[in-house]
Amino acid sequence: MEMRDLYQQVILDHNRSPRNFREIEDADHVAHGDNPLCGDKIKVYLKLNGDVIEDVSFHGSGCAISQSSASLMTIAVMGKSIAEAEELFHKFHGMVTADADQSARRKELGKLAAFAGVREFPARVKCANLAWHTLHAALCEHAEPVSTE
Ligand code: ZN
Repeated sequence: MEMRDLYQQVILDHNRSPRNFREIEDADHVAHGDNPLCGDKIKVYLKLNGDVIEDVSFHGSGCAISQSSASLMTIAVMGKSIAEAEELFHKFHGMVTADADQSARRKELGKLAAFAGVREFPARVKCANLAWHTLHAALCEHAEPVSTE
């Protein structure tokens, strides 16, 4: 099977049956993400234990890229520290936007590398990044409150 097909399978699978697609009723932090260009909406729930992400989930609707990316994001950061999650966010962001060496990053990112291909489609980069930006917003809220105005 081609690497590309394998990646497509990962995206289709997570779109069809998204993991951690639920609310966390006693979440410490909730953040909303909106990608009006595509119509993707994401809500990320976080439960922290000290600086460890004890539980993370999402709700949302939108295209296959945005929903599967959110599903894979929750798996990737579950049980990680805030610092580790932020590092993954930067690596993921770099993979879908930068021209840096891809092979090294793909290894570090595991299944998240399924989204490396969106670099060729600038409109889809926002779809892939939405869940990560929303997670980042939720984590920043933890550090210091985000001003709404
Ligand atoms: Zn989208």
